[in-house]
Formats: sequence, C-alpha cells, structure tokens
Amino acid sequence: MKGRHFETNKPKDTAKIATSLAKDLVNKAPGSKALVVGFTGELGAGKTTFIKSFIRALGVKKKITSPTFLISRRFNLPRGSMYKNVFHIDAYRISNNSGLSEIGIENIINNQGNMVLVEWADRMKHVLPKDMIWVKFKHGKGESQRHITIS
Ligand code: ADP
Ligand code: MG
Repeated sequence: MKGRHFETNKPKDTAKIATSLAKDLVNKAPGSKALVVGFTGELGAGKTTFIKSFIRALGVKKKITSPTFLISRRFNLPRGSMYKNVFHIDAYRISNNSGLSEIGIENIINNQGNMVLVEWADRMKHVLPKDMIWVKFKHGKGESQRHITIS
C-alpha cells in the first residue's frame, strides 16, 4: 500500500485502511530489524484510531488501551504469526533521549520479530530505521474528513 493516498469521511473508513495495511504488512517476511510504521498528523487526526484497528487486525484479542501515559505498550501476536510482538509507542511526550532509552527503544528496534507503530514518529526519527513506512494524516474540509498518505 506504499505510495497510496486515501480520503476518509468517518472513523470506520480509517479503520478499514488500517486493517488492510496490517494484513498486507504482517505477511511480509521480517527484515534485519523491526518493521516500523510511523504516524504523523495533529492531535485528533486519527493516528490512535488507525493503530487500534491495525493491532486488532493482527489478531490481538486483548483490550487495546492507549499508551499515552506509559509511552510504550506491547502486545503478543498470535502463534503462527511471522512477528512475535506489536508495540504501540506514543512519542508525544518524548522530549529527550532519556525517555527513549527508558522504553528500551534500541532493543525494540533491533528485534526483527517486532512490529512497531509510532505516533508522532517525526519526534524520534533519529532512532528509527531509514526504511520505515510513514502514514501521514491531514484534516480535510469536513469535520470528519481525513487525508491519509502511506509512503
Ligand atoms: P490522534 O491519535 O491522531 O490524536 P485519535 O484517533 O485519538 O487521533 O482521534 C481521532 C478523533 O477524530 C476520534 O474522536 C475520531 O472519532 C474522530 N474522527 C472523525 N472522523 C475521523 C476519520 N475520518 N478518521 C479517523 N478519526 C476520525
Ligand atoms: Mg493519539
């Protein structure tokens, strides 16, 4: 789905795109590092909405709560998946590198069994792999319209 642009008009449509991307990526063989997807866009753009559906589509049955205060949350992926874990990281409050080392970012990134979904990824770009995927959100005209670009 790289290089694609979408326009959604309700959260459900954003969730559908997330499901498609998750199913597309989870079937790709892991590389030498974690598979990282970075999300950008202002507060309320739909990053968390997208990520929750993405994690659900990977087969995670557990309640998916946001990592806003914890910064990083890990979920086990079902047996038989090519990846072992999916991490949901919210870098909104990360203001320096000590926050990043606290969550053990290097080990998370260096493990090829991890999928890593990062809100506000532009704030910690320096520790993320160059070949990561970006999902960029922009508000559209209507209150519920969003432009989503995957690159
Ligand atoms: P972020 O994590 O980017 O701050 P959230 O996903 O937490 O954003 O919040 C997005 C808000 O916008 C939710 O309240 C959601 O219901 C609403 N919303 C309205 N239209 C859309 C849409 N097309 N896609 C995603 N969310 C939408
Ligand atoms: Mg969010």
